[in-house]
Amino acid sequence: MTPSDKIAAALARGQRFLLLTHQDPDADGVGSVLALGRSLCDAGKETTLLFQAPLGPPLCFLKGAERAVTQLDDRKIFDAAVILDCAEKNRLGRAADYLYKELPLINIDHHETNDHFGTLNLVDPKSSSTAELVFGVIRAADLPMGPEAAENLFAAIQGDTGSFRYGNTTAKTFRVAAELVDLGALPWDISRRIRDNHSMARLRLLGLALETVCLRLQGRVAVMTLTREMMEEAGAHETDTEEFVDYPRFIRGVEMGVLIRETGQNTTKVSIRSNNWVNAARLAARFGGGGHARAAGFTCRGAAGTALTLFLKEARRFLDGTRD
Ligand code: AMP
Ligand code: MN
Ligand code: MN
Repeated sequence: MTPSDKIAAALARGQRFLLLTHQDPDADGVGSVLALGRSLCDAGKETTLLFQAPLGPPLCFLKGAERAVTQLDDRKIFDAAVILDCAEKNRLGRAADYLYKELPLINIDHHETNDHFGTLNLVDPKSSSTAELVFGVIRAADLPMGPEAAENLFAAIQGDTGSFRYGNTTAKTFRVAAELVDLGALPWDISRRIRDNHSMARLRLLGLALETVCLRLQGRVAVMTLTREMMEEAGAHETDTEEFVDYPRFIRGVEMGVLIRETGQNTTKVSIRSNNWVNAARLAARFGGGGHARAAGFTCRGAAGTALTLFLKEARRFLDGTRD
């Protein structure tokens, strides 16, 4: 039996499921949870969708998002927890507190840094998104897939492929997307609601952020910086920085685009995107983070300046080929 078949059998057999994704979730994590939740529910099963924190715009506009909770009754028992788009258990944040010892874990993910923490694991780094894997599992388990599940899977795939442009987009991705459209997903409607639906604060923040972009390491790295003061000045929220890191990456000749963002008094988040060959996941792993070959990230202590100095030192080794 393939991992997908084993998971399909467990989903068909069980009755009560807890569905989770990584903290600070993106469209792939949330869309996958909502879609699988909808399918299981339509098959007559009991589902609990748990996020660490309430969803803000735009992900709260995904259909079914209002059914999710941020807390659980500790005594609640499940047949399994399905953990989606999450490379390690500790990326679940506080939601991991609800995973009691005997609870079987079903791990469905596409991060190359996934550590196979599950009782059952479907981990495929070649998949564009977790949602593409969830599509296969729903089909293998013969669960219903209505327009709401189709829309959420479509939004998830669109998110992780940068609207079908990144290198993770395959012929299969398009085939799955075409099936989702056949099932009722509306690409233009989803795009306007989930992607092209920005606050004025986001645009103000982008203006400030673009001013900071500078080239380092002989033009091979472009860095954008967001300080806490800039976030405050713009009145922006963390989710308003989604995809900002693409702007430095877009510069001709740049191999790595980097966003350095202060997230707290003494913590900074570093997002890395590479264009051609640097393995961003391995570079992020040097700092305890992870991700994919072309998109990865980590958090570290210190303000933006400290994080940048540490990062550039290691990035130079990767670019010079003295570390990979
Ligand atoms: P981001 O830069 O936050 O959009 O993340 C890009 C990719 O890197 C995503 O696949 C994340 O799951 C992964 N990633 C980001 N931050 C971390 C982290 N602190 N630890 C592990 N993986 C991360
Ligand atoms: Mn994700
Ligand atoms: Mn993903």
